[in-house]
Amino acid sequence: MILCGSTGSIGLNALILARKYNINISALSCGENISLLNEQIQEFKPKFVCIKNENDKKLVKFPSSKIFVGQNGLEKLLKECDDDLVLNAIVGFAGFNVSLTAKKLNKILALANKESLVVGGKFLKGANIRAIDSEHAALNMLLKGQKNIKKILITASGGAFFKHKVKDLKYVSSKDALKHPNWSMGAKITIDSATMANKLFEILEAYYLYGFKNIDAIIEPRSLIHALCEFKDGGTSLYASSADMKLSISQALFEKNDKNILNSLDFLKIPSLKFYKISLKKYPIYSLKDILLNKPDLGVIVNAANEYWVYKFLSGNCAFLDIANGIFKALDKFADIKINEIEEIFYLDKKVKEFCAS
Ligand code: NDP
Ligand code: MG
Repeated sequence: MILCGSTGSIGLNALILARKYNINISALSCGENISLLNEQIQEFKPKFVCIKNENDKKLVKFPSSKIFVGQNGLEKLLKECDDDLVLNAIVGFAGFNVSLTAKKLNKILALANKESLVVGGKFLKGANIRAIDSEHAALNMLLKGQKNIKKILITASGGAFFKHKVKDLKYVSSKDALKHPNWSMGAKITIDSATMANKLFEILEAYYLYGFKNIDAIIEPRSLIHALCEFKDGGTSLYASSADMKLSISQALFEKNDKNILNSLDFLKIPSLKFYKISLKKYPIYSLKDILLNKPDLGVIVNAANEYWVYKFLSGNCAFLDIANGIFKALDKFADIKINEIEEIFYLDKKVKEFCAS
């Protein structure tokens, strides 16, 4: 397979599976973590690699003619390798082009980069997508062969501040926000979990993947139940597993689910399972759910503003609550947009980030 974002949390989990099940890795891509990329090159012996910055090329221990750079480089990487499968584990808007290219080349897209669907889901219609998000991998299992579905629910952990009082959120630091109770993930998605932007994005992701608008999210603080499917007859199915992304990555990589990826949950050892409504006072970003479902084009606006403010928060240059405020301001400004061409998405991502910085 072609593995984009190999130095991140999903990338590393994918490589654990590759090591264990002898998956051939034709190409690796990273952003700036060249020392880890060098280790991966030694172990997996790819044909090509791609990095983010031209200046880092000299640091990569690999023949220069086989090192591609930047967004154009990622496109070349996909074109040069004849593998059918691309795993897109790049974080943020930077991953969108890989998804578009995978579609163009008729490759199977194992998709962790949910931002691709949030910003441009309508341009990925018809792509052969296998979602890696745990909730959507769970929905794949729940919805298989089912017809009489009434509603789908995905779960949220509540993130680092599930137990905090709303008034205390004013003073939390990025270090506090990065302490996710259940999952070990990259920094951006960990902040997105604390604000609930991640769940908002996953609602849109589910809409594009399954075509339903009757979707909601509830909090299950242990992250053992990932999704629920309500049927018209009053029955509900739940999908449960321990919180380990290797399960959903494997479901996207392997046709047959015949491998022992995780130990089954021992329900006798789980003291209690509780579910909670998402508080809009604590997680104001989630109040955008119906607005986004009614006008999914706005996904690019919310994503761009979120990306801008999350990185500002991570670098200690704004407060936690500024993330939500920044998103609402950007939405006010860009409420009337309508997207007809893919290029408009790239244009708007840039414009919104410029607006946030002004
Ligand atoms: P990480 O931050 O851990 O990794 C991101 C990867 O993308 C790294 O390899 C990074 O390279 C690379 N990257 C970052 N910026 C660029 C850029 N501009 N150009 C090219 N490559 C870049 O993120 P995660 O692995 O946590 O998440 C990846 C995606 O998967 C996200 O979209 C996230 O929402 C989604 N996801 C993640 C889950 C998880 O458990 N982690 C669960 C469900 C979904 P480098 O580090 O070398 O700079
Ligand atoms: Mg998820």
